[in-house]
Amino acid sequence: MAEYKAQCFCGSVRLSVAGDPVLQCYCHCMTCRAFSGAAFTSVVLWPTEQVRFDDGQALVHRFRREDRPSFRLSCTACGGALGSELPHLAMTDIYAGLVPGFSFEPTYHINYEHAVFPIREVSQSSRICRSGQAGPV
Ligand SMILES: [Zn+2]
Ligand SMILES: [Zn+2]
Repeated sequence: MAEYKAQCFCGSVRLSVAGDPVLQCYCHCMTCRAFSGAAFTSVVLWPTEQVRFDDGQALVHRFRREDRPSFRLSCTACGGALGSELPHLAMTDIYAGLVPGFSFEPTYHINYEHAVFPIREVSQSSRICRSGQAGPV
């Protein structure tokens, strides 16, 4: 089983993800943008049981907005975003950009109606999923 290492911006939080993710996509929703500061996020959903914190777990901050089911994860030492925990789905999203060596192969965009700029590839190679179909991320 493949295993990949990931870490936060400062390296205090280290984790491993194992096996295959369940879903890979880009998310353009406002909450992802507000949390990450990026125009969209590179979502990789792993079954939570396949995600293991190897170091710095006490530094992981979990924040849930009242109107959202998921917890946003960040490092309290550097403020770096890690992804999200989705307990209602038993999934954890670890941003693809944090996982060197993992081949990120997103198959669609979600919440594209909230995109802040058009993505050229969308009309050709990606399937657009409207927010209602994918559920809240
Ligand atoms: Zn950090
Ligand atoms: Zn999102």
